[in-house]
Amino acid sequence: METLPSNVGTLSRFSLYNRAVSTVTSGETARPELVCPICGETGADARYAIEGFRSNLVVCRHCGTGWLEPMPSPEDLAEQYPTSYYGETGQKFHPLIELGVRFVGGRHVRFLARRVPPGGRILDVGCGRGILLRELADRGYETHGFERFASAVRGIDPRVQVRIGDSLMAVNYPDHFFDQVIVWHVLEHIPDPTDVLREIHRVLKPGGEVVIAVPNFSSLQARWSGSAWFHLDLPRHLFHFPHQALRQLMSDCGFEPGTTHHFSLRQNLFGWVQSALNRWTRLPRNSLYELIHARQEPHVKSLPRMTRFCLLSAFVLGMPVGLFLEILATLMKSGATIHVTGVACGDEQR
Ligand SMILES: [Zn+2]
Repeated sequence: METLPSNVGTLSRFSLYNRAVSTVTSGETARPELVCPICGETGADARYAIEGFRSNLVVCRHCGTGWLEPMPSPEDLAEQYPTSYYGETGQKFHPLIELGVRFVGGRHVRFLARRVPPGGRILDVGCGRGILLRELADRGYETHGFERFASAVRGIDPRVQVRIGDSLMAVNYPDHFFDQVIVWHVLEHIPDPTDVLREIHRVLKPGGEVVIAVPNFSSLQARWSGSAWFHLDLPRHLFHFPHQALRQLMSDCGFEPGTTHHFSLRQNLFGWVQSALNRWTRLPRNSLYELIHARQEPHVKSLPRMTRFCLLSAFVLGMPVGLFLEILATLMKSGATIHVTGVACGDEQR
C-alpha cells in the first residue's frame, strides 16, 4: 500500500468520490494496541486502505465499530469538503433527481417531527443546505442549524437560525434549549462523536428527542459489498457504526434508545446499485453517483457516451432490484442506513 507523508495536496489527483478502497491483505493487520473510541476496549484490525490517504479503516474487535486510524487532521478533513461537495447554488444533483430528493424529504419530515410539540424548537446538526429545516419551518417549527463551514449553508432558507463553528461545543447553545436535535448522516463525519452526543444531551430538554441517521456498518449491504460499499464514503466517513454499537453509544451518552428504522428510499436503494457497480466494473469508484451530480467531475464528463448510457441504464434497471433487496434487508432488520431515535434522560436518571 502506498503511504503518503501527508494528505495535503492529494485531492487534485482524485475527484470527491473516486478514491479506490481495498481490503488490507498485506502485512500485519492486527492492531492490538488500539483503543476503540466508542466502547473503550483495546484491540482492533486494519480492514480497508484508501488510495492516496495514509489512514486505514480499522475495526474494533469488541463492538465492531470502524474508524480511521490515524484520525485525519482538521486541515486534511477540510480538503475533503470543497464547495462542490454541498452543490453549487444550493443544488447538488441533476434537477430531476433534485425534485425527487425534495419530494421524499418533504414526506420524511412529517414523520420525523411527529413527537415534537407544535412550534417546538429543532436543531439540525450539520444542516448543509437546510432541506429538512425548510420543510420544518413550513410546518411552523422554530428551526436552528449548525454547520462547520459557511459555504455549506449557501442558499439556506432565511427562517433558519444558523450558527457556524469548529464544533457543536464551540457554538455553545444554552442548556435544555431544544425539543429535538437531528443528526442526519453527520455523526459518521465527526472526529469526536461521543463528545458531540454528550453535548446534544446537554442542549436537549429532558425528555427531548435525538434522531440519528448513519450508514449501518453491520448491514446486509455493507457485508455483501465489502470494500466496494457505496456508503463507506472514505475518507469523509471517519466512523462506521454497527447498529448495536450506535445504540450502546447513545445509551452511554444519556439517551434511552427508541425505535430503529431500517428502510430509506433516499439512501438504501441507490447503495445497492452503486456498490454492485463498484464490485463488478472497472470504472472509477462511484462513477454513477458522480454522473448524476449537478456538477460533474472532468473524468466523468470524459467517459465515452456508451459508458454513460450503460451507467444510466444500470441506474434505471437496478433501482427496482435495489428496492427488492432493501425490503428483504428491512425485514431482516439490517437496513443499509438506519435512523435511531433516543429520548434524553434527566441527569438524575443517568
Ligand atoms: Zn469498540
